[in-house]
Amino acid sequence: MGKAIAGKIRELERTGTLAALEKYREMTPQGVQDMLRIKGFGPKKIKSLWKGLEVETIGELLYACNENRLVELKGFGAKTQEDLRKKLEYFLKSQDQFLYATLEEVGEEVLAHLQQALPAGTPVAFVGAFRRRNPVLKGIELLVGGDLSAVFDGEELRLVRQEEDYYLARTADEIPVRLFQCRPEAFGSKLFRHTGTEAFTQYFLERAQETDFRDLAEEAEVFAKAGIPYIEPELREGPGAVDRALVGDRKPLIEVEEVRGVLHAHSTYSDGINSLREMAEYSRDRGYEYLGITDHSKSAFYANGLKEDRLRRQWAEIDVLNEELAPFKIYKGIESDILNDGSLDYPADLLQEFDFIIASVHSNLRMDQTKATKRLLAAIANPYTTMLGHPTGRLLLAREGYPIDHRAVIDACAEFRVAIELNANPLRLDLDHTWIEYALEKGVLLSVNPDAHSTGGIHDIHYGVLAARKGGLSADRCVCCFDRTDFEAFLAGQRV
Ligand SMILES: [Zn+2]
Ligand SMILES: [Zn+2]
Repeated sequence: MGKAIAGKIRELERTGTLAALEKYREMTPQGVQDMLRIKGFGPKKIKSLWKGLEVETIGELLYACNENRLVELKGFGAKTQEDLRKKLEYFLKSQDQFLYATLEEVGEEVLAHLQQALPAGTPVAFVGAFRRRNPVLKGIELLVGGDLSAVFDGEELRLVRQEEDYYLARTADEIPVRLFQCRPEAFGSKLFRHTGTEAFTQYFLERAQETDFRDLAEEAEVFAKAGIPYIEPELREGPGAVDRALVGDRKPLIEVEEVRGVLHAHSTYSDGINSLREMAEYSRDRGYEYLGITDHSKSAFYANGLKEDRLRRQWAEIDVLNEELAPFKIYKGIESDILNDGSLDYPADLLQEFDFIIASVHSNLRMDQTKATKRLLAAIANPYTTMLGHPTGRLLLAREGYPIDHRAVIDACAEFRVAIELNANPLRLDLDHTWIEYALEKGVLLSVNPDAHSTGGIHDIHYGVLAARKGGLSADRCVCCFDRTDFEAFLAGQRV
C-alpha cells in the first residue's frame, strides 16, 4: 500500500469521512449520483451520459432515451439505450419503495418510540402492507388508539402533513410513516379495517353474518361477530383468504422454528465468505440438523464455480466433517447453472454423484418468455434436478425477472417431482408468494432456502418464511422443514 492510500485510510478511520470523496460528491449533482444506483451502468457510462448529454437527473436521462439521444453517443447504441430506458422506468417506479427487510427494524423502533411517547396502555399496532409483511413497501403504517399530538418530536418522528384520515411523518432516515388515529374503544375495528386490502375487506364484509363492526376493542371480536375463522394478517390480500377460512381446511402456516435444514448455501469453495466448516458449525449451533451446501458449478466462472478436482476436494472435506459433526450432516449439493439450452453444467456421471442439485439460471437473463420457459422446462425434466432455484432471477426494486410461464413451470415440477425454491434473500423472495397456492394445488413441494453467502446470510430464512406464510405454505409441504430421515426419503424418491 502506498503513502497516499494509507493516508486516506487513516483519515477515514480518524474522521469517518474523506475530504477528497466529499469534494467529488459536491461536484456531482444528486441526480447523477442516483444514476449510479441503476444496475448495470457503471461510473464510466454514467459520466459520459452526464457530460455528453448534459443530463443531471434520472428524469432527464429517461427523456433523453425516449428522444433517442443516446444512439449517437460513443459507447452506446440503440440496444443499450433501450436497456437503460427500461431500467430507468423501473427505477422511477421504485422510488419511495422499500424492501420489508429494510423497514423491519425501523418499524420496531418507531413502535417503541410511540409506546414511549404515548400514555401507558395506549393501544398501538402495525397496519397495512407492513402488517401484511409485503416484500416491498411504501413505508410503515401504524394505528394508535389515542391522541397523536405527543408523538411528533421532530427528531425520531417528524410530521410532514396531515391528510384526511392519517398523518404522514418521516423518521430521521426519511422513511415515510403513516399514522392512523382512533378511539381506544374502536381499536379492534380499525385494526381490522386498516390491515387487509380493499378487495379483502369488501369481500369479508359481504360474507359476514353480521355487518356492524363498530366499536370493537379487539380485532378477534370482528372475526367472531362475522362468523369467519381468524385469518392471519399476511393472508389478507384478497377474497381467496376468506373463502379458504370459511371452508376451514387450512393447515397452520409455516413458522421459522420449523425449519430444520439450511439448503442452498455457498462457502469459500465458490463465492461464499465463510468456510465450509464455519457454515456447518454455525448451522449446527443455531439448532439446524443439516446443511445442504450448494456452491456454484463450473460455468459460473465469475463466482469461482467448481471444476471437478475442487469438487472432489470439497467432498473429501465433507466426509471428514460429517464424521466429526454427526449427527449433524452436510449434504453434497451444487447450485448448477442452467445453460442456455436448459442442460445442467456437468456430465451425467458426475451429476449422479451429488446428494441433491439446485438448478438455477445465472446468465442470459434477457430471454423472452418462450425461450426462458423452455430453458427451465428442460432443466426441470433433467433426472438429476432436485430443486429449481430462484425461478425468475428477479431482484426486487432493482431488476425484473425474466418472464416465465409460471403455470407451465409449476406443472413440469409436479410431473418430474422437482421442488421449487422460495429463495429467502429479501431481494429475491423468488418464487413469488402469489404462486405458492398453485404449486400446492399441483402437489409440488417448496423449500425456503437462504442462498446464504455467509453465516449471517442464513438468517434470511426469516424473510423467506414470512413470504411463504403469505402464500399459505405449511411446514409439511416445505422440504427444509423435513427431518433428516424425511429429507433423505425425499431425495431417494426424487431420484428413481
Ligand atoms: Zn443462484
Ligand atoms: Zn446461490
